[in-house]
Amino acid sequence: MERTFAIIKPDAVKAGKAGQILARIASAGFTVRAMRLQHLSRREAEGFYAVHAARPFFGELTDFMSSGPCVLLCLEAPGAILKWRDTMGATDPAKAAEGTLRRDFGTSIGNNATHGSDAPETAAFELGYFFRGMEL
Ligand code: GDP
Repeated sequence: MERTFAIIKPDAVKAGKAGQILARIASAGFTVRAMRLQHLSRREAEGFYAVHAARPFFGELTDFMSSGPCVLLCLEAPGAILKWRDTMGATDPAKAAEGTLRRDFGTSIGNNATHGSDAPETAAFELGYFFRGMEL
């Protein structure tokens, strides 16, 4: 079993799509180990995306991620990290494969509906950033 960290981003929550995305998470075979609705502050979003601090879109990204509540999730499945990346699809919804969450719920490369850890080290950092041990 493996765990990964996922976010239903503010665009999808605002559009009322969180329920549909959670249903897709369940039907894909993930177990939800922890879940919380949280409106991130700008500083919390900046800390989460610190690896992207030098990127030109950092301001836009952290504005967006703190623009409304998101759903924070710990998902568990065999090979959960890669499996969740596959379930989400490519970063840019226009390039994401049919049947993926970003293709179905994302509207632009910035507003792309979901987040997922990209490696075991990232998953460990991201889960620890948002969840306490006893919540998991
Ligand atoms: P991910 O791992 O697929 O989420 O992609 P990255 O790690 O490359 O980027 C992190 C997040 O930054 C993406 O999910 C997008 O929301 C955002 N992002 C990436 N590229 C751009 C861009 O060119 N413009 C904007 N506004 N956001 C971007």
